[in-house]
Parts: sequence; structure tokens; C-alpha cells
Amino acid sequence: MLAAATILGSGGFVPTGRRETSSLLLRGDGSGSDVSPVVIDAGTGLRRLVTDRDRWLGDARRLDVLLSHFHIDHVCGLAYLTELTGDGLEVVIHGPGAALYDTPTAEILSRMFFSPPLMPVTLDQLGVRVAELAPGELSVGGLAVRARRQDKHPNPTLGFRIGDELVWCTDTEADPGTVDFARGARVLGHDAWAPPVAPGHTAPEEAGALARDAGVEQLVCIHVPPRADEDDLRARASTTHPRVTVATDELDLLAL
Ligand SMILES: [Zn+2]
Repeated sequence: MLAAATILGSGGFVPTGRRETSSLLLRGDGSGSDVSPVVIDAGTGLRRLVTDRDRWLGDARRLDVLLSHFHIDHVCGLAYLTELTGDGLEVVIHGPGAALYDTPTAEILSRMFFSPPLMPVTLDQLGVRVAELAPGELSVGGLAVRARRQDKHPNPTLGFRIGDELVWCTDTEADPGTVDFARGARVLGHDAWAPPVAPGHTAPEEAGALARDAGVEQLVCIHVPPRADEDDLRARASTTHPRVTVATDELDLLAL
């Protein structure tokens, strides 16, 4: 079960004064050493773990970061890990490099920025571990997570399900397979990009229809475009689903 699910970054692609880019913080409700914070995606929203560390991480000794894919608005915050490690915090990055792109995640991350001259330190030097993430079930930070391959983005992505409480589907066009994946969940955070709909993303009406068909109680429009008209986004998603929230930073998904 989830004890916390807070959006650290609710925006897509370009950060704004109102929205950092994609990042979601989760925490399980168990006790013991296997319970530790888990982040899905490391956009600029990850900076909150640095700028407000006590609030979001407390005395955590371990942080697991799951990546849905490697587009820049979902990984640029990994660079900020330099401000978190070396202080007794063990960090593990789980990426779908091998599963989705036939390239080891560590190689992709090194190529992107964890090597000179882009960064002065490597992941090894930072003490950050890298693990492969594949579609299927995994246990992380005391949470049972299911990952699903989403093929309707220019590069494939992963969607995530945490029990019956939350499904998180970012960076995908409307995918009929999402209906089964999200069936019966309480909250669906779904990509909603308009206007106009960009290739690889979902119209808000379509996000609402997926949530409706899956029997989801609450739709949260995530990956909000930098120049979105929030009222319009909500109104359009509301034509197909009765309960719609447009994601904002620091939104508590368990309070919806
Ligand atoms: Zn994105």
C-alpha cells in the first residue's frame, strides 16, 4: 500500500515557473528497512529532493529512481543526484535501456551526461548503482510495482501500476492496452497534451475515455504542456470522465 504519492514535477518537456518536468515521489506504508522512497522519472522536479530534502526524503538511507524512458524531460534531474549522494544515501537508478532499446541503461546514462566533459563525475564515482528495468513485476522500496511497455511514443516507454491505488502512464498516445492495465485502479495519472495534440501524446478527451473504460475513479492529467490552458484541458477531459484533476506540482494523489 502507498503511504505517499506526491507529484514533484507535473509538466511536460519544458519547465515553467508553475511546473517542473516529470517526477513522482512514492513511499510505501510498511515499516522496516525495506521501505524507502521511490521516484518515477527524474525530470527537473527531482530538484525538490535537493532543495527541500528534509521534507521529501527525511532520514531515508536509500532512493530508487525508476525511469519510464530516457527523453530529456524525464532524466535531466539525474544530474542533480550529485547533490544527494555522498551523505549516506544509497541511490539506484532503474532504466529500461536493455528491455526497450537493446542498450544497457548504464551505457545510455554515461553517453547522455555522466561522463566528461558533460559532467565531471561518472556514476561509479558518484556511487550510484544502475539496474535494468523490464516490463513485468518488481518489488522496490517495499512497493509492488508492475511495469508495462507502451509502444505509442516515438521511442517506447513504460507505464507503471502500484497495486489498485495508482497507475502512471506518461508519454504515450492513447493506447487501448492501457484499459486492461489500469482496470479498477483508483487513480490514473495519464499523459494529456493539448492543444494541439503532439505526436506521441494523448488528447485529454482520449485520456478521459481510457480512464472511463478502465473504471478508474479519478483521472489526473499529467505531463502538462508548458503553455497549456488548464481550464480547457480539464474541460476537454471532463467530456469523457466525471472526475478530472489537472496535475500541479506537489499534488498529493492520495488526497484526491
Ligand atoms: Zn516527456
